[in-house]
Amino acid sequence: MENTESKSQLSILIIEDHPDQRDLLAIVLQREGYKVVTAANGVEALDKLEQEEVHIALSDIMMPKMDGFELINRIRSNSALRHIYIILITARIQEGDRVRGLDLGADDYITKPFSFSELLARVRVGSRVVQYQQHLEYQTQIDSLTGLFNRRAFEKKIVEEFERSKRYEHPLSVIMLDIDNFKKINDTYGHHGGDAALVKISEILRDKSRRSDFPSRFGGEEFVLVLPETDQDSAIQVARKFHEEIRTCTFGTADKPFSLTVSMGLTSTNKKQYSDWRQMIDDADSALYQAKNSGKDRIEICLPNEHHKVRHAAAH
Ligand code: GH3
Ligand code: MG
Ligand code: MG
Ligand code: MG
Repeated sequence: MENTESKSQLSILIIEDHPDQRDLLAIVLQREGYKVVTAANGVEALDKLEQEEVHIALSDIMMPKMDGFELINRIRSNSALRHIYIILITARIQEGDRVRGLDLGADDYITKPFSFSELLARVRVGSRVVQYQQHLEYQTQIDSLTGLFNRRAFEKKIVEEFERSKRYEHPLSVIMLDIDNFKKINDTYGHHGGDAALVKISEILRDKSRRSDFPSRFGGEEFVLVLPETDQDSAIQVARKFHEEIRTCTFGTADKPFSLTVSMGLTSTNKKQYSDWRQMIDDADSALYQAKNSGKDRIEICLPNEHHKVRHAAAH
């Protein structure tokens, strides 16, 4: 898992009915490192937008089948496409078209004939706007104390992974983790001591998990791990690894060190059929509750068809 902001390649859709102009634009933009997708009119553009993620659309206005205005309308009224940065290509004389295009929701325009250096400069402006939006979007998914993904990011991830797991019949596991007696840690070492422990546990979860795993802070002193492509047996190994890592780690300061333990609840789709991801979370949560009730510092697993009955699985 990489909890850093990725600067992915931006993708540009060129919508232009003249094949020569379309190809020329494609070559120029590809040479600058953009991923380029092309369409000959608005209808084709909407098709492409369904298949590919596009960040910037560079669109002609006058085109057969569906013109640029109608295309802007369609893009702006679709919540999945609304954030696309749209640059209109207009003729110098058509001032009315530019005003109409901007009012409909275009972000910028360029007038024909244009130089490639101006075109590229405008595309760079678009790239900055898109990257800033991506940055803001990313920030809303990060927990400010620990830098780990937050609950909002977790919910987005679990929905995606749950759907994927159902569609391809691949296993998915979820581990809920709660620090034992954390209130006492705060009482003894102060709130800052408690905060530092939360940060350290987050580092362990981030640094020791596989790339595809998704650890997040569920809230307070609770964490949740989403493990795609992971069946119950492998998830138990993951849980044991973290359980051990945390209980052998030293927290606090050199003159006031302390250790802590965690309880975990685990559930996997290869052992129990789920129709809703929320059920999975509820099961992981009730397994965690069971771990707390049977003495803490342990891992409990949700068993199939026995919603409230979980097995003690701690290895210590
Ligand atoms: P249990 O073993 O049953 O989980 O006991 P607990 O004390 O860990 O659980 P409880 O739910 O009673 O208390 C959770 C504590 O976590 C209380 C709350 O102040 C503390 N906490 C929650 N969020 C933070 C935080 O961001 N920083 C610090 N320092 N403490 C936090
Ligand atoms: Mg045209
Ligand atoms: Mg708790
Ligand atoms: Mg706790």
